[in-house]
Amino acid sequence: MNPTRRRFLGHAALQVAAASSMSAFGLNVAAAGATDLSRDQRFDPSLAKPAMPLGQLAQQGRLPAVVIGTGYGGAVAALRLAQAGVPVVMLEMGRLWTQPAADGRIFAKTTAADGRAMWFKSRTEAPISSFLGLDVINRNIDRYAGVLDRVNFPGISVYVGRGVGGGSLVNGSMAVTPRRDYFEEILPEVDASEMYQRWFPLANAVLGVNHVDPAWFESSAAYRFARVARDQARQSGFKTMFVPTVYDVNHLAKEELNLAPRSALAQEVIYGNHHGKRSLDKTYLADAVGTGRVTIYTLQQVRRIRVGPQGGYLLDVREIDERGNVLAEVQIGCQSLFMGAGSLGTSELLVKARETGDLPQLNEEVGRGWGHNGNVMAARANHLWSPTGKLQSTMPLMGIDDWAHPSRPVFAEITPLPTGFENWVSMYLGVTKNPERATFRFDAATGRVGLDWRREQNAKSVQDLRALLDVINRRQGTVYRTDLFGGGKVVADDFTYHPLGGCLLGRATDTFGRLKGCPGLYVVDGSLIPGSVGVNPFVTITALAERNLARVIEQDRLGT
Ligand SMILES: Cc1cc2nc3c(=O)[nH]c(=O)nc-3n(C[C@H](O)[C@H](O)[C@H](O)COP(=O)(O)OP(=O)(O)OC[C@H]3O[C@@H](n4cnc5c(N)ncnc54)[C@H](O)[C@@H]3O)c2cc1C
Repeated sequence: MNPTRRRFLGHAALQVAAASSMSAFGLNVAAAGATDLSRDQRFDPSLAKPAMPLGQLAQQGRLPAVVIGTGYGGAVAALRLAQAGVPVVMLEMGRLWTQPAADGRIFAKTTAADGRAMWFKSRTEAPISSFLGLDVINRNIDRYAGVLDRVNFPGISVYVGRGVGGGSLVNGSMAVTPRRDYFEEILPEVDASEMYQRWFPLANAVLGVNHVDPAWFESSAAYRFARVARDQARQSGFKTMFVPTVYDVNHLAKEELNLAPRSALAQEVIYGNHHGKRSLDKTYLADAVGTGRVTIYTLQQVRRIRVGPQGGYLLDVREIDERGNVLAEVQIGCQSLFMGAGSLGTSELLVKARETGDLPQLNEEVGRGWGHNGNVMAARANHLWSPTGKLQSTMPLMGIDDWAHPSRPVFAEITPLPTGFENWVSMYLGVTKNPERATFRFDAATGRVGLDWRREQNAKSVQDLRALLDVINRRQGTVYRTDLFGGGKVVADDFTYHPLGGCLLGRATDTFGRLKGCPGLYVVDGSLIPGSVGVNPFVTITALAERNLARVIEQDRLGT
């Protein structure tokens, strides 16, 4: 089957599954064989094949391969295993986000959020919590299996996506390949030549990474905010660069002309985009389902992993409904297990398995080396004569590149503050080089896994972003906004979008993600990366998973 057809069929199956409220589905290969690509078959109900309930499947014996999580790492694993002929079951704790609810919307409205916005919270917990010091951003919502989670540890809160597509459903689409010298510094055991010649280009191609037309960028009202911040950065002696994106830049241009429905230009991002974004359900996962060998089970949370009675692995899985009611508790056996639950999810499951004696052979490196990619945010107040525009696209396309600085490397993305009215704000998401790391620890009393990151560990990140922005403020005669992050704070140092590490490549695993001491158990997600990558991480997570899976498929006897 050619790749376009496979993606088309997989995408169609994902649409139909949601329309029919299926919680477990794959591609109906017989129906797909009969489809005619020249007609729009997108809602052909025969395309999605309802799968048998997990409990029933479990009774049929050990599965060849299970992937936990449907984010970047999990999606790459599922696609490449299936292409190698291995049937794959994916278990995802979130829901499928491809069909509108009764109000005609798939996702919640950013400005009037409801339960769809957040993962079982009674109130939204947005990163920018106030405006002019007023608590006008967050609102009470129904507890529901929403798309964005904020996991609150004592020292830091971590934002993650929940649903088929993981973080791709809620992220800002910035698709940046890291600088080669920094990649070599953080992952010296990986052949950088191979990464930059083969795996990064492959990941970029399948993810659909594209680049804005500079001429359009100069003329777009929706990017005035970025041009203002860019010009000020340049006047202050800093270099700037365009940031590649997985948001369709042609769609973006059409949005501005009202020739396409607005999404990036309608304040949509952290609670999901209705249009324009090439999230994983439209790329890797569509390709994976399109092979006919991948079945996705949604609203299934893996809670425990141990060795199976005849080898392989045994998983305890809890099925819930969208309101959080427990529908079933199932045990499922598999021969090979791919951990794609993200830095938090994978580390939590494995630390718990080691500490409770379920997988005592996991080494002491499991749980270590967690970092937040040096994430901190800040905002400046511009003069009245430097308006940033009342229409602001949610998709950043420009960054200040000061990574070459000898003592305080910073990559500061110019991010919007799309309030819908003129606010004169320049906002930045700083990616800094912070050597501090944290460890996931099991608490026997509560049975929970915590993260021991302390707020003080953020001091260098705060200082480094401020050092850069202080120069711009001095040059422009401007000041910081202190009303956006709560408590009069200048730099938001209490949350991250970029959790990385916990099962580092070459330490907890071998140099291809095989967990040491556990044959058939693999890590494929952001937990492999040692806490920092210097740019937004999803392209690196994807490319590394491509590299590792190629080796594992070539060398390990999977599905036999
Ligand atoms: C608001 C926001 C904006 C961001 N912007 C960008 C950006 O512009 N560019 C960029 O590169 N990165 C960005 N990121 C980060 C990026 O999305 C993540 O780095 C990436 O998604 C991590 O990929 P992953 O494969 O490690 O795991 P994830 O994408 O997190 O996927 C893990 C999946 O596993 C599921 N899961 C977890 N535990 C279990 C379990 N026990 N059982 C079953 N399923 C489970 C989760 O629900 C999730 O779907 C952003 C993140 C957020 C939250």
